[in-house]
Formats: sequence, C-alpha cells, structure tokens
Amino acid sequence: MRPPALNAFFADIEGLSGIGKRNRALFDKLSGTRIRDMLLHLPTGLIDRRYRPSVAVAVPGSIATLSLDIIEHRPAPSKRVPYRVLTKDETGFLTLVFFNPRADWLRAQLPEGETRLISGRVEEYQGTRQITHPDYMVKPEEEGSLPLLETVYPLTAGLSGKVIRKAVLDALGQIPDLPEWHDAGLMAREGWPGFKAALTHLHSPETGHDIALDSPARRRLAYDELLATQLALALVREKVRKKRGRAIKGNGKLTAQIRAALPYTLTGDQEKALAEIMADMGGDRAMLRLLQGDVGSGKTVVALLAMATAVEAGTQAALLAPTEILARQHAAGIEKLAAAAGLKIAFLTGRTKGKAREALLASLKAGEIDILIGTHALIQDDVAYRDLGLAIIDEQHRFGVQQRLALADKAAHGIDVLGMTATPIPRTLTLTAYGDMDVSLIREKPPGRTPIDTRVVSEDRLSDVIDGLRRAMAQGARAYWVCPLVEESENSDLAAAEERYGMLAHVFGENAVGLVHGRMKGPEKDAVMEAFQKGDIQLLVATTVIEVGVDVPEASIMVIEHAERFGLAQLHQLRGRVGRGAAKSTCLLVRAQSVGEVARARLQVMRDTDDGFLIAEEDLRLRGGGEILGLKQSGLPEFRLVDFAAHGDMIPMANDDARLFVSKDPELKTERGQALRNLLYLFERDEGVRLMQSG
Ligand code: ADP
Ligand code: MG
Repeated sequence: MRPPALNAFFADIEGLSGIGKRNRALFDKLSGTRIRDMLLHLPTGLIDRRYRPSVAVAVPGSIATLSLDIIEHRPAPSKRVPYRVLTKDETGFLTLVFFNPRADWLRAQLPEGETRLISGRVEEYQGTRQITHPDYMVKPEEEGSLPLLETVYPLTAGLSGKVIRKAVLDALGQIPDLPEWHDAGLMAREGWPGFKAALTHLHSPETGHDIALDSPARRRLAYDELLATQLALALVREKVRKKRGRAIKGNGKLTAQIRAALPYTLTGDQEKALAEIMADMGGDRAMLRLLQGDVGSGKTVVALLAMATAVEAGTQAALLAPTEILARQHAAGIEKLAAAAGLKIAFLTGRTKGKAREALLASLKAGEIDILIGTHALIQDDVAYRDLGLAIIDEQHRFGVQQRLALADKAAHGIDVLGMTATPIPRTLTLTAYGDMDVSLIREKPPGRTPIDTRVVSEDRLSDVIDGLRRAMAQGARAYWVCPLVEESENSDLAAAEERYGMLAHVFGENAVGLVHGRMKGPEKDAVMEAFQKGDIQLLVATTVIEVGVDVPEASIMVIEHAERFGLAQLHQLRGRVGRGAAKSTCLLVRAQSVGEVARARLQVMRDTDDGFLIAEEDLRLRGGGEILGLKQSGLPEFRLVDFAAHGDMIPMANDDARLFVSKDPELKTERGQALRNLLYLFERDEGVRLMQSG
C-alpha cells in the first residue's frame, strides 16, 4: 500500500490550472498524467528576459524586454515581404517584423499611439534594430503576465511551454514536504536541498546554472533516482540471500576429469572467475553472482566446472537459457565434456511432452539426473528436483526478477545462483543494471583468435558488397546478412527483411539463401538454423533475432545493413557471431549514404576495437545520457533524471548506501526506512517494497 503522504504526487493532473481533457491527453504523451510525472518533467533551458535596455543600447543577438511606443503599421505589399510595425522609445527606432500575420489581430495587439512591453530577440538589419515575431507583447499595466525568467520544457505538438509552466507551478503548490530520506551527513556535505525544494528550484530557477546537470538540486534528484534503483536491487538481493544457503564444496574429482578432457587450459580470467564462484558456493550464504564476459570469452566451461562442483557435493545443477536454440547449443557443447566425467545430463523445454516428460521428471526427482539443461520450462511448478544446489541462468537479463525468485523457491535452502551475460556494459553502469549481484568478469579472450576484419561501407556500394559475397560464397564461405531495424514495429522490420531476402535469393539462388525472423515458430526457425549450420544454406538473412550465442563456427562473413541504427553493444554482439572458427572473418558495416558525425565516430569505434567493454564505454561517452540503445536489453531500468555522463559518479555511492542500509534495516522500519519507502514509490521501484511484504 502506497503511503497516503504520496497521494498528492499520484493524483491526476486534470483540474490543475489549465489542464482539461485535451491538455491532459497531451501530457500523457509528454510525461504521464500524474502530478509526479509532470513534476519529474524538468526544464532543459531558461530564457532570461530581465535585460531591459533602451533601443539605442540594446545588444543585437540578445533577448531583451523593451518598452516601445507603436508609431505605425506597414502591412506587407506582397507575400514575399514581411508586415512591419514601426516603434520607438526616446533613444531610437525599432521595427517589429511579422511574416504572414493576421492583420486585424495585430492591429488589436499593437494599436498605433500606445505603448507596449515587447520581449524577444533583438536583431540588427540594414542599420536598424528589429525584433522578428516577438515572444511577448503586453500592455504596460500587465507587466506581471510577462515571465522575466522563462523555463523551457521539452514539448509535444499542441502543448505550449506556457501551459506547462502554469500547471507545474500549480502542482508544486499541491505537494507536501516529505521527510528526508537521505543521510543527513550526505545532505550537508553536498549542500543539497530537500526533495520538494529541489523540484521547486528546478521548475522556477533564477539562473541558467540552477537547472544545469551539475547543480545541487539536479544532482540531488538524480541521486534520488539512483538510490531508489539500488535500494530495490538491494531488497531483492536480501530476499534471495535471506534463506540460509549451505556450503557446497566439491571433492575435485569430477572437475579434474573435465579439466583433463579439455583441449586447452583455462585463461587467468576464467580461473579467477571460477575461484570467485567456488568461494561463494563454499560459503553458507546463497550465491548471487553474475559472470560477465564477451561473446566467445569462454563462460560455458566455467559454468560447467561450477555445475560439476555442485554434483561432487551431492546436489543437482540446472542451466537455464532464454531460447530453445541456445539451450540446445549449451547441451551440445557441454555433453562431450560432461561425458568425460560421467555426468548425467538431460534436456527439457516446453516441447518435451507426454511420456518423455513424465519419465524425465521422475528421474530428476529420483536424483538420476545430475545436470538439467533447458528453457524456462525448468522452473515450472511441477518440475521437482531431488536436491537443486546450483542454478545457472544464461543471458540473465532476459529473465525477470519474478523468474529469479521462482527459481529460488525450488529449494528449501537458498540455491546458489549464477547469472551469465555476454552484454558488455560500461563499468559505470554495471552496478545500475546488476546492483543486486556480485560480478565476476572475464575480459581476456582465449588465445589463438584471428581478429575480425571490420569495414564500414556506404550503402551506395551495396553492389560491391554483393560481388564480394559472391566470390566468397563460391569458395564455400557462409555469411549472415542482418537487416535494418526500420522502426519499433516488428512488421516493418519483417517487410524489409523479406524484401532483402527476395533480392538476395534472386542473386544467389533460392537454395543458397535462408531467412529467419522473430515471427517464425520455433521448429521453423530451428530448421533454417540447422540448414545453415550444416552448410545447406550459405547465406542467412535475418532480422536481429540471430540469438546471442548462436554458434556456427564456419560462418565467416557478417553483413549488417544500416549499421548506424544499431546500438554499439548490439553491433558488437552481432559481429561476435563470426570469427569463431579457423577462417579469417569479415564484418561489413553498411551505413546510410549520409550519416551524422556521432554515427560516423561510433562506427569508427567498431572498426578500431574488438573489446566489448571499451566499445560499451565509448558508446556511453559518445551518446551521453541519451537513449542507450542496446543497453535496454541488458536489463537496465528506465531512468528519467539520471544522465550517466553527468551523474554516473554517484552510482557506487548509491550502491553502498543502499546495501548498507538494507543490511541494517531490511524491513525499512526505522524512521529513515519509512522515508525511503516513499522514495521507492515515487520512482516506481516499488517492486522492492512489494517483495518485502510478500515474503
Ligand atoms: P561464451 O559462452 O563466453 O560466448 P564459449 O564458452 O562458447 O564462450 O567459448 C567460446 C569458444 O572458446 C569455445 O569453442 C570454447 O571451447 C573455447 N574456449 C573456452 N575457453 C578457452 C581457453 N581457455 N582456451 C582456448 N579456447 C577456449
Ligand atoms: Mg556461451
């Protein structure tokens, strides 16, 4: 239940000054329809109209407010010439310029012989001062209606800044002061205003600096959002870890057999990650750890050794993958090594049905299966393990908190959970996306990889790309062709992919080309993937559904159309589909003919490095706080106020603050705890609160 003190924040904006049905609908598009939504929609600029010069000294280019006598209207003689109104003060003349105005309206606004306060940008044109389309023209006695300091809000068509300003001021009057949720020491050190004061400050600033990203009020609100996020994560973590785990210690027998069967030795990073995992498993709290490593960095073998350890300790292990294809690949990759240690492996997905499923569940319950690999079917209610000790979740971000908790419920004891992700995210953001987990990082790649030759080509050279592809395919090469993300809508993506498929099938022959997309059913998709895997198909046209982790070592060419539309993290993952085998691989980033400077720089980064973490950091740097494409899919929650470039420095602080607080007051019962509940609700990270109440 939301604390009643917050009701005013969650009240509807309809009825606020100037907000009827129509404007409410516009706000719905812009920010949302609750008072909280409106107040978190912050101004991005400030127009200062306090400069009140006389005409003679008004500086061209500046925004000024002048008191002017209207001398004469000079309507436009033709459409190509503007309508002019001649004015003056005691120091000189100034012309007001209008293009296609309604003349009668203008005459009413600016009657000849009267005085008006006019505000706008002063220009100099052919030796005279002028203002084109003034922002304000008011009677001297109505001076109060002219905002001398005017906040600028991001707008939506039909909604003016004036309407927003008025409604926001009204809304500010309706909200109560809330008890401070931040630590008093922190507030004093940073010189931050309270929550309401910060909102008030930002919506009615006095100088441009007041609304800058680094102003105290702005940083405070960003920290509010960061702390709310970290607090929710810390509460989830506490809930999962509250169950007493148990020490899972192996005897080293099975892992030694697997190591002996490996055709290579583990890299330093792999060994380090494994040691961290083993230490967690051996401890008596449940493990909650994320194994982060680029595509091809060798996470699978680390996972397998961890699972073998769980089996050595007499428990079972489960490996959960987001899709059937990925689950199958894991099973195939692990089977041979596991067989060397005599591990019993089974495979379960939604497609396992009837007798086969019953038999499988029975042997799982009896403990005849050591490792179960599959999709989310592994955590359905009727799937009972004899004793699940370790669960590994591949592509962890694709599973929600709910599914993670369902997994935790599979055993009386806390289960050790290891997430895996191949989405490299900038170090500054790791805590934001995965603040509830401890992180092990594999950065070093296994030796012996040939770097991928990456080139950026303009789309007007598409025929060269196709010629090159023809030559390579004649030699037996296999290639991916990724089609552009057209819009949000899957339909238009699909249409584009189908069209491209048609064209390429025409060029290379129907039998050599296949198409996969998100609308295809599992078996259909698998059939095409299998044909590509076997080499029956040489060119695979795809929307971005080519799953992370799909492994066809023979594929050596990756073509990505409209590469500028993808997030760098996404491009990096797509590129990671090639360069997995012995053949020298190529990645062609096809870009639109004309692209902006940032897009150019981003593609350049792709050409220059293959380090996923470097790429992620560069992407963040180049795009700043803007929408971080590709990171959305990495499980990063949505932020309204945090600009990662400007506020990223506060993330570790928020993480420490949240973890420390939850360890002292896990139920949020103390005075500060109660105040922090408000924070969770305000920023809609209330899953944290809900969790506490349900368990
Ligand atoms: P990830 O799951 O992290 O994308 P994989 O576990 O699939 O990566 O490993 C990619 C490839 O690298 C596999 O073929 C694996 O056998 C191989 N590999 C893993 N570790 C090493 C190592 N230390 N030395 C050489 N090759 C390795
Ligand atoms: Mg893998």
